[in-house]
Amino acid sequence: MKSRADVVIVGGGISGAAIAYNLAKKGVKHIVVLEKSYQGSGSTGRCGAGIRQQWGTEMNCRLSKLSNEYFEKAKEELEYHGDLEFKQGGYLILASTDSELELFRRNVRLQNKLGIRSQLISNEEAKEIVPFLVTDEIVGATYHEKDGHLNPFTTLDAFVRAAKRMGVTYLTHTEVTKINVQKGRVVGVETTAGNIATDTVVNAAGGYSKVVADLAGVAIPTYSERHQILVTTPINPILKPMVMSFSKNIYTQQVPHGSIIMGRSDASEPRDLNNRSSWQFLDEMAKTVTSLLPPLERVRVVRAWAGQYNLTPDKQPILGEVPDVKGFYLAVGFSGHGFMFAPATGILLSEMILKEKLTIDVSALGLNRFSKGELIIEPSVV
Ligand SMILES: Cc1cc2nc3c(=O)[nH]c(=O)nc-3n(C[C@H](O)[C@H](O)[C@H](O)COP(=O)(O)OP(=O)(O)OC[C@H]3O[C@@H](n4cnc5c(N)ncnc54)[C@H](O)[C@@H]3O)c2cc1C
Repeated sequence: MKSRADVVIVGGGISGAAIAYNLAKKGVKHIVVLEKSYQGSGSTGRCGAGIRQQWGTEMNCRLSKLSNEYFEKAKEELEYHGDLEFKQGGYLILASTDSELELFRRNVRLQNKLGIRSQLISNEEAKEIVPFLVTDEIVGATYHEKDGHLNPFTTLDAFVRAAKRMGVTYLTHTEVTKINVQKGRVVGVETTAGNIATDTVVNAAGGYSKVVADLAGVAIPTYSERHQILVTTPINPILKPMVMSFSKNIYTQQVPHGSIIMGRSDASEPRDLNNRSSWQFLDEMAKTVTSLLPPLERVRVVRAWAGQYNLTPDKQPILGEVPDVKGFYLAVGFSGHGFMFAPATGILLSEMILKEKLTIDVSALGLNRFSKGELIIEPSVV
């Protein structure tokens, strides 16, 4: 293992890989990504990999728009020979109450102002997109046809391979055990395979973001929560968009090879690193999804699993250098949207580290927003 690096990235998920790729593309020579387990073992390999631009805060709209534009050309940009399974079938987001519909009306106004061509639609229009949708408890919806889905494993693989081609060292089964800080600046990391001297470390550790920040003596307000998801056997194409409901806490989509992937949140989930799936999830997921989409009663579940949402108090990520520790950067707290934001994360963190002008001004996403009480709550999350 190298004993010195220009940048060490802790975490080999989609965020760490996208940051490494962007830095290497800009000519940074000695970049090491350290992954304590296998490639994709964190939330990236466990996620739904949906991508949407229908958000309720300007920041999230901008991050997702930049990322979506990137995904549209990712296969060429990353020179990937595999299949990213990129599908733009749209997201159909259902409103269950008048107040939710009012929120959606404001969201669509904001999205349209930022160039995202989402629309507020009636139940009848929603049924034109998904004819078997049960609308008894629905009062309207929003739809954006450019939203969609990718395969999280091949997308991660594309970033990792492109980064490696440009000289990035990507080490699996190598855990960072300490981040050394002297006189308020990073000087190196200790790992299970030896030490690396560096003046720049990025915490891209997903569900373990708090644990990794602690290794540098930095307290951050992130926490992790289990989220569960399942996949069915493949069936003929019946579902074009991702169907999502915030009030019912569910999302479901059909991927290109025909399987249906669906997940739901549980408000009673404790804050911990539990990754086991439960019978209760299967039961509640099945009841909720079939009440909205009855034909799904007939599909068979082949696998269920769980992963971590790494959350912040305002459900927006923390991006940027830690004010008191020079050279220590955070790319954490992505909640249920770190996959879809990864292209933007990669671009922005590389710009921060290289002290370049930011493509999007994300200074409001710094760690000090919490101590200043400057939270901007994202209302539209599952
Ligand atoms: C069920 C579920 C569904 C989701 N659906 C979506 C979705 O549809 N769309 C979307 O955009 N997002 C979704 N997400 C969220 C998304 O998965 C995450 O936000 C995203 O994958 C975060 O990527 P990451 O690279 O930051 O973290 P991870 O992919 O978690 O990578 C972090 C890595 O750091 C490693 N690590 C931790 N500690 C150390 C250490 N000390 N040393 C070395 N390595 C370490 C871990 O092993 C891990 O592999 C979902 C998440 C879950 C759980």
